[in-house]
Amino acid sequence: MIIAVYPGSFDPITNGHINIVERGLDLCDKLIVAVSTNIRKTNLFTTEERIEMIRACFPDSDRIEVDAFDGLLVDYARARGANVILRGLRAISDFEFEFQMAHMNSRLAPAVETVFMMTSAEYFYVSSSLVREVATFGGSVSGLVPPAVERMLRTRLEQKRS
Ligand code: ADP
Repeated sequence: MIIAVYPGSFDPITNGHINIVERGLDLCDKLIVAVSTNIRKTNLFTTEERIEMIRACFPDSDRIEVDAFDGLLVDYARARGANVILRGLRAISDFEFEFQMAHMNSRLAPAVETVFMMTSAEYFYVSSSLVREVATFGGSVSGLVPPAVERMLRTRLEQKRS
């Protein structure tokens, strides 16, 4: 049985992430989308909000679980019985960091394999940080995130402004 963990900040989840989840699901029996609660990062959405947002994107799949983790990813993967870490690769700029992490994780947990999926052409430039930035300055992020996420973004940014 292949259990994959797809970790990330998902602040917020984008259509690029969703594409990786949907394609990743074809390669495993169960996919755990694991929201990182990294305290060094200041996030726009709380961990609970990010979890709810992701769950709302996949209402029908009983093979997708959404959870949160802190500490070492490999410890979390082992605790969840996962044998695969799934990561998306966008541009060359992602490569160096991902390459280092994959090697470090394989050193820490040789039984857990990191699998990379190339981004779909239509989402190669999409990142949560760019989506946040565009939305902050009033630009449309329609088509880059699900409509519900777009609404939550607008509401949160209005709250921040007032
Ligand atoms: P981070 O690891 O910096 O917190 P994210 O939470 O944004 O990154 O993303 C989690 C994972 O999803 C990473 O593997 C990242 O490369 C991947 N990812 C993010 N955006 C896209 C995209 N548009 N297409 C494919 N993969 C993506």
